[in-house]
Amino acid sequence: MPQRIPVKASGGGNDLMARKKRRWNKALAMVKNPTRSPGSKAIEITRAAKIEGCSATYISQTTCSPRCAFLNNGCYGESGPVSWNRPDKAREIDPKEVADQEVRQIKQLSGMRPLRLHVIGDAADEDHARKLAEAAEIFSSKADMPVFTFTHNWREIPKEAWGDISVLASCETTKDGLLAEKLGYAVAIVRPDKPGRPNLDKETRELPCVHETRGRSCLQCGLCMDAEHLFSQRIWIRFTAHGARKNVAANQLRRIQ
Ligand code: SF4
Repeated sequence: MPQRIPVKASGGGNDLMARKKRRWNKALAMVKNPTRSPGSKAIEITRAAKIEGCSATYISQTTCSPRCAFLNNGCYGESGPVSWNRPDKAREIDPKEVADQEVRQIKQLSGMRPLRLHVIGDAADEDHARKLAEAAEIFSSKADMPVFTFTHNWREIPKEAWGDISVLASCETTKDGLLAEKLGYAVAIVRPDKPGRPNLDKETRELPCVHETRGRSCLQCGLCMDAEHLFSQRIWIRFTAHGARKNVAANQLRRIQ
């Protein structure tokens, strides 16, 4: 576990090193005390294997798209360890209130590490995405760290509403992936079977998630933190159905793919 650094300001309390130490100590305090609201939770440094070392938000599923094939049907956030961080399990909080809570929390993060939005939850609508874009700008201005996420609401939210956030359209079928591309989104596709090899010579040019194939974390890989690059190269990030109910999710995928 990283340790708290004693702050002894050498230049009247305002020198760069003292400020860095204070920011580091604040980040550590937030590891122990994540910022919580009824509909949203922000973690300064997550220990979740895939996004270990990143900051992350978990928000109410009232923001999720009803189109998501995994909602109440194998979503990795509804059971197992990920669900322990799920706020608003009863799904009662208005998505607009959730958005406001999340944005407030993002602004409180240190900005010293990449931020993964919505380990659970989604941007509910265009207004939510625009608020996130504004908060992400403030977040990234602190230490030039990227903000990245995935959305099932890519049909409803214009790509430009996300600002500089690296966003991938979450798709469950090839047809949807091709449509998302037409709308300007990089694509993440979930397949029912094991990752397999990259097939960059095919129409959909799928590259299996590096965490699934090599056990690397997002911090080490970083591909999804640059959606513009993925989009320009037409590379789709491919995931296998995952989570505690991955068999349910895989069966759902086999039905629709
Ligand atoms: S491809 Fe890389 S950045 Fe994207 S989810 Fe997998 S490990 Fe993370």
